[in-house]
Amino acid sequence: MIIDSHVHLKHGDAAKTEYTPERIIEVMAEAGIDRSVVFAMSTTTGRSIEMAAAASAGFPDRLIPYVYALPGFEGGVIDEIRRAIEELGFRGIKVHVGECSLAPYVIDPVMSLASEAGAPCLVDFGGRLADATRIATSFPSLKLIVAHFGLYLAPREDQIEGFIALAEKCANVWLDTAGVLLGWKIADAVARIGAERVLFGTDSPYPKPDEASMARRGVRQIQNLELSDADTAMVLGGSVAALLDL
Ligand SMILES: [Zn+2]
Repeated sequence: MIIDSHVHLKHGDAAKTEYTPERIIEVMAEAGIDRSVVFAMSTTTGRSIEMAAAASAGFPDRLIPYVYALPGFEGGVIDEIRRAIEELGFRGIKVHVGECSLAPYVIDPVMSLASEAGAPCLVDFGGRLADATRIATSFPSLKLIVAHFGLYLAPREDQIEGFIALAEKCANVWLDTAGVLLGWKIADAVARIGAERVLFGTDSPYPKPDEASMARRGVRQIQNLELSDADTAMVLGGSVAALLDL
């Protein structure tokens, strides 16, 4: 089974592109993907819950909802996130450094909640290794997923190497392959931390060149790494299935 652990109901691009659950299911079919973790960003926590709840209600066997955490200095969303996880069946939390401060007084209540609830937290750190290190080590029982191996579309090895080293040091860190340009670093990570902590993700759908191209390419990227069959299967779905207890 192929499970995409990084799919957007709403993106963070300039157009804030949205995709319906029906379109996401079509894209998954084109790429041979069985299940997907879905979330929205560039919106409020409340609206992200509405969007992901509707998606998973429509396709309960295919779409797995994460809540988007947008905490502010004045607080407010922690109760919404808790309700999504404890009452609505949400399986994880998404955070994006482009829209949310990672200052401890803003983000740590989210990380505490994620730790207590056993819900993984998928964070786009935008290359901020110091913040990833602080959070991973401050919350040892947190299941921390580092999106994009640390930096989206990083063209240089040194921009993501520190995040792989962090995962080597911290057993509570997973790495997601969405938007990783340097495919050989994915194989490198599998060799160093094990396929169990490398999660296949695609960041799809994506408008160009066609909406399913990123998903198709993402699957092929993992298949082309020449890992063992067991490791390929683990990265493409086994790792996130174990993480989320699917
Ligand atoms: Zn993304």
